[in-house]
Amino acid sequence: MSLSCSPGSDAIRAQASCCDDHDPHSLPVPVALARIQTAVQPVAASEQVALRAALGRVLAADVVSPIDVPAHVNSAMDGYAVRAADLPDEGTVTLAVVGTAFAGAAWDGRLASGQAVRIMTGAVLPEGADCVVMQEQTEREQGGDQEGGQDRVRIGRGHRAGQNIRLAGEDLKTGETVLAAGRRVQPADLGVLASLGVAEVRVRRRLRVAFFSTGDELRSIGEPLAAGCVYDSNRYSLYGMLSRLGVELIDMGVVRDDREALQAAFREAAACADAVITSGGVSVGEADFVKDTLLSLGRIDFWKLAMKPGRPLAFGRLGEAVFFGLPGNPVSVVVTFYQFVQPALRRMMGMNAVQPVTLQVPTLARLKKRPGRTEFQRGVLEQRDDGSMAVRPTGDQGSGILSSVSRADCFIVLAADSSGVEAGDTVTVQPFEGLF
Ligand code: AMP
Ligand code: MG
Repeated sequence: MSLSCSPGSDAIRAQASCCDDHDPHSLPVPVALARIQTAVQPVAASEQVALRAALGRVLAADVVSPIDVPAHVNSAMDGYAVRAADLPDEGTVTLAVVGTAFAGAAWDGRLASGQAVRIMTGAVLPEGADCVVMQEQTEREQGGDQEGGQDRVRIGRGHRAGQNIRLAGEDLKTGETVLAAGRRVQPADLGVLASLGVAEVRVRRRLRVAFFSTGDELRSIGEPLAAGCVYDSNRYSLYGMLSRLGVELIDMGVVRDDREALQAAFREAAACADAVITSGGVSVGEADFVKDTLLSLGRIDFWKLAMKPGRPLAFGRLGEAVFFGLPGNPVSVVVTFYQFVQPALRRMMGMNAVQPVTLQVPTLARLKKRPGRTEFQRGVLEQRDDGSMAVRPTGDQGSGILSSVSRADCFIVLAADSSGVEAGDTVTVQPFEGLF
């Protein structure tokens, strides 16, 4: 009889989760996070890369504008460049059209009183002009014999000096810091840098991150699943999360619960990576050799965290590399990665913004919780009829229910001292889009 189908399984589940929420020896989440953040440093090395290759990379130095953008005063509209003083307060005025200014092909004259120049968006504003009137607000009159063959334009009231004009340097000024060191380059940043004529930028060296799973019960995809075994899913979650961060990945596969094999893997990882991440084997089970092995090789702390899911976490150094020993439970891996590993890796990458974005929204359902541990429940953000956002939990929140993460699009963060919230109460959420 399978346990999950047995009539007593709810009772077992309730019992298993009822007695463990207050532990005076466990470390509060904010304390663990602060310790980790102060223990890691940005990689010092940097490299010069071509503009396109900078997407997703972290700037190692401020980018200072070498030019004004735009470089010259120009028109924001297709229309007529005029002198505002020529325009009427009442009725209309008729001006002589003396030329045309195109983007990239300026009109070289000087505009005199009574004259207008036909002007296109982006064209340099002719000297003497101080106002652009939209084409739609004018009436063109073809020049006849009586007008000496010259076209004229009729313009009414309601215009002022400076309208529809883009000033030189109004976007970016020469000498201004355009993008600060520590910024992860976004798509629009590439456009901004291109607008400055910047062909290359200096970025931090890409972080190298080695990771592997530990456990005798783990099977890799493609292998048959023997009784009592599970497929190694943590390495795939980690692959996805690390790929999104833009680090260089060193996937070291599955390592058995065996001292020698673990020692060899830790040594190899530490020799080639800035950070080493493992899952499993950090709790107090009989086959949890990771602890002894790490203590013999590096400076590692083993923490019991006041959080759910994800209680055990190992953190420290293996040689020069920073080490994170995540718990084995698949949900705990994702939660501890986003709460501790990602902020630390972001800092090591040289990023300024390392913490997840949070929102305050009402919950659509009651959330049960005991005081004692910070909980990261999984939720789905929903748009309500009035357009505002709210969050709904994704059902079973067990630490082995990985599908609860895959169905979710945010974490619902419940503070350690919370004893649950009622439907309609405001909760803090971390949207995955701001994290992943
Ligand atoms: P451990 O922390 O090693 O005691 O593992 C805790 C639970 O997570 C056990 O049920 C393991 O089978 C499971 N687990 C550990 N590593 C993995 C993995 N890489 N993929 C899927 N499940 C795992
Ligand atoms: Mg294990």
